[in-house]
Amino acid sequence: MLERVEVGDQSIGNYEPAVGQKVVEELRALASPLRDARVLHLNATPYGGGVAEILRSQVPLLQDLGLEAEWRIITGDQEFFEVTKDLHNGLQGAEGRFTDRHPEAYLEQSRRNAELLEAEYDLVVAHDPQPLALVAFHGRGEARWVWRCHIDTSRAAPDAWDFVRPYLADYDAVVFTLGGFAPPDLEGRRVEVIPPSIDPVSPKNMDLAPAMARRILEWIGVDTDRPLVTQVSRFDPWKDPLGVVEAYRMARDEVDDLQLCLVGSMALDDPEGWDVYREVKDETRDDGGIQLFTNLTGVGNLEVNAFQRLSNVIVQKSIREGFGLVVSESLWKGTPVVAGRAGGIPLQMPEEGEEFLVDSVAQCVEGIVTLLRDPERAATIGAAGRKRVRERFLLPRLIADELRLYASLLRVGDEARGPSLAGLAGEERDPVCGMRLDPREAVEAPHGGETFRFCSETCRDRFLEDPERYESTG
Ligand code: UDP
Repeated sequence: MLERVEVGDQSIGNYEPAVGQKVVEELRALASPLRDARVLHLNATPYGGGVAEILRSQVPLLQDLGLEAEWRIITGDQEFFEVTKDLHNGLQGAEGRFTDRHPEAYLEQSRRNAELLEAEYDLVVAHDPQPLALVAFHGRGEARWVWRCHIDTSRAAPDAWDFVRPYLADYDAVVFTLGGFAPPDLEGRRVEVIPPSIDPVSPKNMDLAPAMARRILEWIGVDTDRPLVTQVSRFDPWKDPLGVVEAYRMARDEVDDLQLCLVGSMALDDPEGWDVYREVKDETRDDGGIQLFTNLTGVGNLEVNAFQRLSNVIVQKSIREGFGLVVSESLWKGTPVVAGRAGGIPLQMPEEGEEFLVDSVAQCVEGIVTLLRDPERAATIGAAGRKRVRERFLLPRLIADELRLYASLLRVGDEARGPSLAGLAGEERDPVCGMRLDPREAVEAPHGGETFRFCSETCRDRFLEDPERYESTG
């Protein structure tokens, strides 16, 4: 059998303080027709990266809501993960990464993993490209199959997308993180948009008293009396850690005593991580202002919580990005973020912080210095960010979206349920960010003889810049 990830017990009632009693009651009502539904989430790593982060919180809550939810991981050797990393990079738009790849190792391992999938399920959700081909070897059986793609594939390199597309024929639905992430040629497929979320009561995001946070950072060697800039990310070229180092060195010329921490986790399915780590280590070895930390040396959820809470500025200088959960994690703690204008990052940034979306090292430096010199402004952006995350990117909203999708695929419950407090896929929603729309507050724009509706002017403007990009999810 594929290895099961143990997740512990959680109670949906614990989320009432963050999202209110009504939302929790609604989740229970949505889950009730799905009682005992056997739902399997499949991915390739139990830690490191956003997918593992979400499943770790989501699966125990699905269990608490009465579903027979499980999380299992597929296995692979070095060659398998090299293929899937090239596929991942190709899907994110890196040209030529997949062309010369021989996918035999990937297919052979997919066949082996399929043999290990023994139990019966009502619904299987495969996350990202690693488990994608398993269904082709296993067969659909009695289950409904969902491919949950966390990558922005809208500009996928043709070689990578041509490899992926035939496998989608076996899936009942494809779910993307944001409206603009779907490639244009998905006609005939059911496409849903479900934005990710963070868990407000997990050790990474729960409240942490300032004294405790300070103690945690001092324990690992951070000087909490000096100004601190941090990036929390896998060591991945798309997250541009060397660009962060360059920006920090320029910012340091203007802000005395500034220190930089790069906090990175190594994921099982990311063989590139060590190469990038070594490159960054070599570049920063003799620089007393910079420290590197990883999960392998004991920097885990609580430490990340403390970094995101106590840093004066969090940087996420991504060049390409899926959603970028770390942005919501930091804003939830009231900490301002300077971040690359990539993937889902702009949709997480509150209006007050839009100026701190950056496209270059120079802009990143300017953002860091501006926020360090103006703590009041930093606090305003942090507060607006926390509000935005509370309204859009907390776990109960994600679970509501997923429950609605499961019910619809399994044809149970009341699909015609009225507008939801939690915001659900299947209702009228913004084609850009995937959020539920309140018709009274929606912003409209005409296009191609139709009227499109949006949650905000930001989403409308994004749509109008490139409408075709959003039409498969509109
Ligand atoms: N993360 C962590 N420790 C680290 C670096 C990252 O726990 O040292 C977590 C981070 O807090 C976030 C996730 O990994 O929850 C990264 O998700 P994101 O969507 O930002 O990026 P991805 O890695 O999925 O591309």
